[in-house]
Amino acid sequence: MKLTFAGTGSAFCTAADNFQSNMILETSNTETGQLARLLIDCGTDARHALHRLGLWPKDFEAIYVSHLHSDHIGGLEWIALSNYFIFHRHRIDLYVVNELIDPLWEHSLRGGLEVSDHGNSTLETYFNVKPLQPEGSFNWHDVNLEVLPVDHIVAKNGKMQSFALFGTTNSTRFFITTDAIFNPDAHMAYYRKADVIYQDCELGPRWSGVHAHYDQLKTLPDDIKAKMWLYHYPAYAKPDAVADGFCGFVTPGQSFDLA
Ligand SMILES: [Zn+2]
Ligand SMILES: [Zn+2]
Repeated sequence: MKLTFAGTGSAFCTAADNFQSNMILETSNTETGQLARLLIDCGTDARHALHRLGLWPKDFEAIYVSHLHSDHIGGLEWIALSNYFIFHRHRIDLYVVNELIDPLWEHSLRGGLEVSDHGNSTLETYFNVKPLQPEGSFNWHDVNLEVLPVDHIVAKNGKMQSFALFGTTNSTRFFITTDAIFNPDAHMAYYRKADVIYQDCELGPRWSGVHAHYDQLKTLPDDIKAKMWLYHYPAYAKPDAVADGFCGFVTPGQSFDLA
């Protein structure tokens, strides 16, 4: 099993060599033995990020959506229309927490996908929707993926959560934070039991308060930092993460063997 970062940038990253933080999980289909790919989030950059890796919308069996910011879902219209009209109605399993399904369609995708020359469409016209329970889990071939609600935006008038993933393969436990505030109390149990952590990390002078900032992550215990890779960073100069005890910053296109 392999995890590849199509990009490692933040939502607003404009670095010429980077794209938004979408990932590809690859393994063998347990029934056919063929290569199967799960796209973890599909942002507005996805068509460029995936093209750089030589991948097309038809090359995915499934997509997981962590939350509704456009760097995580902005490419779904492109995926849907490409697969429907260009790639012979190739259908993708869309794994998404049940409470996000309605807003994903009503507030993000319906405007571009509902009306077409084959009649009115719904999310199910384009995807096999696989509703997930928050704090539930699902098996995708030889990996079990736990869905973990994490706080992303905590504001006076409401809260937005993202749904992080904790994966377990035959040999590796990995934690992908997706987008989350710095919240060591809530995340420590997963930090501890993971063999490798992929942590969203903000850089630079402006602390948005909706992602963990590098300076906050530096305060984590050494044994946690020693298995932590940093991603979802903006185009600021990067500090020496290895000197600070981390594994480093994930580079665009980097792959990890999780078998
Ligand atoms: Zn994001
Ligand atoms: Zn976000």
